[in-house]
Amino acid sequence: MRLYDCDHCGQPIHFDNRSCVNCGHRLAFVPELLAMHALAENEGEGTWHLVARPHHKVHLCANAAIDVCNWTVLADEPQAFCPACRHNRLVPDASTEVGLGQWRRISQAQRHLFYSLMRWNLPRTTREEDPEGGLVFDFLVDEVKEDGTVVPAMTGHEDGLIAIRAAEADDVTREQIRVSMNEPYRTLLGHFRHETGHYIWDKLVRDGGKLGEFREVFGDETADYGEALKRNYEEGPPPGWQEFFISTYASSHPWEDFAETFAHYLHIVDTLETARSYGISVEPRRHEELMAEVAFNPYKAESAEQLVAAWVPLSLAINSVHRSMGVPDLYPFILTPAVVTKLEFVHQLVHRNR
Ligand SMILES: [Zn+2]
Ligand SMILES: [Zn+2]
Ligand SMILES: [Zn+2]
Repeated sequence: MRLYDCDHCGQPIHFDNRSCVNCGHRLAFVPELLAMHALAENEGEGTWHLVARPHHKVHLCANAAIDVCNWTVLADEPQAFCPACRHNRLVPDASTEVGLGQWRRISQAQRHLFYSLMRWNLPRTTREEDPEGGLVFDFLVDEVKEDGTVVPAMTGHEDGLIAIRAAEADDVTREQIRVSMNEPYRTLLGHFRHETGHYIWDKLVRDGGKLGEFREVFGDETADYGEALKRNYEEGPPPGWQEFFISTYASSHPWEDFAETFAHYLHIVDTLETARSYGISVEPRRHEELMAEVAFNPYKAESAEQLVAAWVPLSLAINSVHRSMGVPDLYPFILTPAVVTKLEFVHQLVHRNR
């Protein structure tokens, strides 16, 4: 993610800001420009214009009214919702404090995902445009039975429908699951990136005529999916999984391997963009092999190898910084040559689509 600056006063501003702390201007992310901008209201019109471009008129996403979203829609477009929020079908109950809090955190992660999808112009048709396979999100609440037992909602993907368990927006719930599943990392953004990986697989691998190439790298996805997940759950990952897979879950089935790899590709590219935006480079004394500078646009990288060459030293340094604060590693994963080959497959897929 880039660091932006306020069009009016030059103050550094962030992707999730709503107003400038220095000059007070309303701030919004303008999706057609892929950037944050300061806005000024058009008196009596119910619309806004960009301070830097007075002819560029927009209205705020309908979800701005409850401070869920900070994106805009072009003023002459009929849609009430921005290009991210218009994919939502079931959303948490905004009339309750818990529901609204969950939705705000969910939306923040979702817009971060959409930023990456838009940077590469990856498929993201709505259900209106593609009733069978368009991308649509349900944020599901858990079912509470009469005796008080909770039936957790399921996170998953099927034919463009992505379900996210809303309770994953609560730190206690998500952390409990992370520990019980023995996972090193579990975030809302990670869920969005992983589940969208399944959707991208449908669109670019299955429907894009890439099944042969896919199987060469990830294996045969016609293997029984239910059996594979059951085996992974009951027996754990195969011995030596670390050499071939980014996570234990990735080892369960080629579909999950792809979704995990896709998520990591987005983690790496977006975090490298942030590092580049801040001019972060690492140059440990006496360790030239650990030097890294992001001297390229990660969204336009030449190869997965180029990304990984910057990412490994940078993430090692940031992990060490985290340890100094007593918090878990930022990136508790190992990128082996086999995993980099899978990242390269995702890289080609993303860039050939551009
Ligand atoms: Zn400002
Ligand atoms: Zn929105
Ligand atoms: Zn999955």
